[in-house]
Amino acid sequence: MNKPAPVRILNAQILPLTSKQLLENLHDGLLVTPNIDHLMILEHDDEFRRCYSEAEWVVCDSRIIYFCSQLLSKPLPEAIPGSSFFTAYYTYHRNDPGCRIFLLGAAPGIAAEARRRINLSVGREIIVGEYSPVKGFEHDPEESERMIRAIAVSEATVVAVGLGAPKQEKWIVAHRHRLPDVHLWMAIGATIDFEAGNVRRAPLIMQRLGLEWLYRFTQEPRRLFRRYFINDIRFFPLFIWRHLIRRR
Ligand code: UDP
Repeated sequence: MNKPAPVRILNAQILPLTSKQLLENLHDGLLVTPNIDHLMILEHDDEFRRCYSEAEWVVCDSRIIYFCSQLLSKPLPEAIPGSSFFTAYYTYHRNDPGCRIFLLGAAPGIAAEARRRINLSVGREIIVGEYSPVKGFEHDPEESERMIRAIAVSEATVVAVGLGAPKQEKWIVAHRHRLPDVHLWMAIGATIDFEAGNVRRAPLIMQRLGLEWLYRFTQEPRRLFRRYFINDIRFFPLFIWRHLIRRR
């Protein structure tokens, strides 16, 4: 597939793809799934911007970004929430023995439970390994070595990394050259928690209305208050100013 020209929203160049197109064409590279929180981090974090520029696949995770894009001359065709897409991805590859997935992230025991549940639903060992890094792994080179070793011995071809943004994207970009047999990297946020049944996703109607963030907020208000009501709220004036008033 020739990738379509990206749609720029603030500092992200987002591919206008449907989830079907992504499923059929996603074979290698790095997939990142911008939401409003990512866009706000991209405003001030150069290293995160570099990760985004190195990612081969940048698709819109957020219904709110999707709705906003409808006000632009080149709108996005769909929102592709990373968590729904990951389920679609392993289901699509259920009979493809070349697809062997490693889960990296979430609290101890959670990734193992996600692995058990996914393998049960797919009917084969599509998840070949998992590892939950210790807190502070990003400052601990020895822990990164353990993460790399665990992935290497699993013989995975795909690694799904759920360590929260921007840590997950930064870790992938810093280490993917060490694992040449992995052809696809996906940064998937809280998806491992959802797959394990540890955290519930919002009801479908809330997802459709762009209210998934509100549901997550009610589940973890202390952690998410700052993210949603202080950091992310700035998205709206920035979007209006840059894309609707200045139109640059
Ligand atoms: N996480 C982790 N190690 C860390 C920080 C986060 O394993 O040092 C995991 C956390 O347990 C959760 C996931 O990262 O499963 C995503 O967290 P968050 O809610 O921030 O993700 P997002 O909003 O990006 O989906």
